[in-house]
Amino acid sequence: MEITTKPSTTIINKTGSWRTNRPKFIYDKCPACAICPRVCPEGVIYQTNQINTLGKLPYDCDLDYCKGCGLCAQECPFKAIEMELDEK
Ligand code: SF4
Ligand code: SF4
Repeated sequence: MEITTKPSTTIINKTGSWRTNRPKFIYDKCPACAICPRVCPEGVIYQTNQINTLGKLPYDCDLDYCKGCGLCAQECPFKAIEMELDEK
């Protein structure tokens, strides 16, 4: 019997409703360094197609599947992600 789950299981199971906090991506602070998608344990961070004031395509996440762990905000070197209370 398998008792552990594989990474990125939230791609199958929506976890958005479980969160206490959620990340807010501040597009104009993001120079698209691409660190956050590499640290997100759920693989739910993606590059947008909106050019910001830095002339870059900033990153965002799919809140349906983000579990609010805060790793992305912790590792962003440009403070372009803030964790805020998820008021659903
Ligand atoms: S808080 Fe950030 S690192 Fe954590 S699951 Fe959500 S998008 Fe991924
Ligand atoms: S780590 Fe921060 S600066 Fe880098 S892509 Fe993600 S949000 Fe943008």
